[in-house]
Amino acid sequence: MSTANTTPFDIAKQALAHVGRFRTPPTPNVYEVWYRYVEGVDDIIANLSHAVDHVNAVSVEMLDQLHDQYCVPVEVAGERMADELISEMSSLHSVVQKQIQVGADFGDSINQACGALSEANPSPETVSDCSKALLVSNAVMQEHIQELQAQLIASQTKVENLQHELVESQRATMTDPLTGLGNRRHFEVGTRKSIASDNRESRHIVLFVIDIDYFKTINDTFGHESGDKVIMYVASQLARHCPDALISRIGGDEFAIIVDVSDYIQAKELADTVRKFFASTPLKLSESGKDLGHVKLSIGAARLRIDDDEQSWFVRADKLLYQAKDGGRNSVVVEHFR
Ligand code: GH3
Ligand code: MG
Repeated sequence: MSTANTTPFDIAKQALAHVGRFRTPPTPNVYEVWYRYVEGVDDIIANLSHAVDHVNAVSVEMLDQLHDQYCVPVEVAGERMADELISEMSSLHSVVQKQIQVGADFGDSINQACGALSEANPSPETVSDCSKALLVSNAVMQEHIQELQAQLIASQTKVENLQHELVESQRATMTDPLTGLGNRRHFEVGTRKSIASDNRESRHIVLFVIDIDYFKTINDTFGHESGDKVIMYVASQLARHCPDALISRIGGDEFAIIVDVSDYIQAKELADTVRKFFASTPLKLSESGKDLGHVKLSIGAARLRIDDDEQSWFVRADKLLYQAKDGGRNSVVVEHFR
């Protein structure tokens, strides 16, 4: 990976070397992901380094996914959708303007008719002319109302499609491709939301940072693919144990859970339950039946404090995780709170 004084030319050369080494087609997307990898983009390194260093197998699908997640600025997709929404709004605006005009014309013709009819003893011709004029105005009005309805329905469909597209694109950029959990961006958004919540003082929002113990040994003993399966298994079991929590994979074998608890005891119990579940459940590879032993976890947890920002909250929980590691692993350290 690049050093501080690597030039873009060197990065490009190394990126192309990766294209060749992994026999990935030199499409712009693939090249860009390798370029960013060599350049040192953390999220891309976190996703690729193990496969690059140990497995020597990187798929085009994986690179395409990484490209969509980390190389396409969220703003570009957002800008296109915003443009479409603005153009839809402005066409709706002109439809509504037209309808206002038609309504005003209709009002005028009614006023004229009322004026003519309120004269003393209007002639039969006047009555007939007025009703003809009103019938014509009404027909015009009805036609425009139908047009308006059709346009509103079409517009509603377009706006709903855009909404759906927006939700999908946000979801895709915040999903970890391996586990389907949220990724680091998802975690950062979740942290920001917790910090911004109005009632955070009265809540007990706890961040659990979880790391698999000796995960490298699993990779080295059983291979990267088995390692991937263990990560997927851990993810699915975390989701099962914490159904109401915001769960993200924030690094190779590292997860974060943000969840509301009622008190310290509940936070501690949750962490203990998760740790004990893994430590007491032996794992086997489904295809070969090979024994993987037990997955052990270390967990650090900290409650959101009133003066916390995103960084201070995470740093506290992460330090506690390292206390759990230093204390012998397969253990839990939850910061005490009232
Ligand atoms: P510790 O007990 O201190 O946590 O040690 P560890 O062996 O678990 O090592 P550490 O947490 O520091 O590093 C995690 C390793 O996970 C590094 C990398 O080789 C591997 N890894 C990262 N991403 C992936 C991935 O997507 N799949 C697989 N199979 N391995 C990965
Ligand atoms: Mg680990």
